[in-house]
Amino acid sequence: MTHTIPPARTNCPKCGKTSDIVLMELPDDKSSIVSACCEALIPHLNEDAPVLIVDGHLVCPYGDCGAVGEIVELDVATRDNELSIDPDQPGVIKASLGDHSFEADGYECRKCTRSVTIPNGYEIERD
Ligand SMILES: [Zn+2]
Ligand SMILES: [Zn+2]
Repeated sequence: MTHTIPPARTNCPKCGKTSDIVLMELPDDKSSIVSACCEALIPHLNEDAPVLIVDGHLVCPYGDCGAVGEIVELDVATRDNELSIDPDQPGVIKASLGDHSFEADGYECRKCTRSVTIPNGYEIERD
């Protein structure tokens, strides 16, 4: 379902023509601002758009990028690394990789570096 948003017009990121912009309601209660001609997501009017899943690939949702397989998770890792002295190596303090936990900090497209979100119905599983 789409709604026209008067009176703004912008350049369509996909075909480059000046286009009306419309609000497209997504199935997960979110909505995106897209061009009326191609329904291409307009980057500067949206933030954190959900990644598109196309043929089993993660696709950048922004109309002027659309990179395939370039979505990355940004995370922060906190580790407790135990320090020890090795008697055979004077002047060296060793740090062993200890327990670590990762916390997702968000997701972005590596190509256009804009932030994206994980679509509803998907969750991240780390191996
Ligand atoms: Zn267009
Ligand atoms: Zn992108």
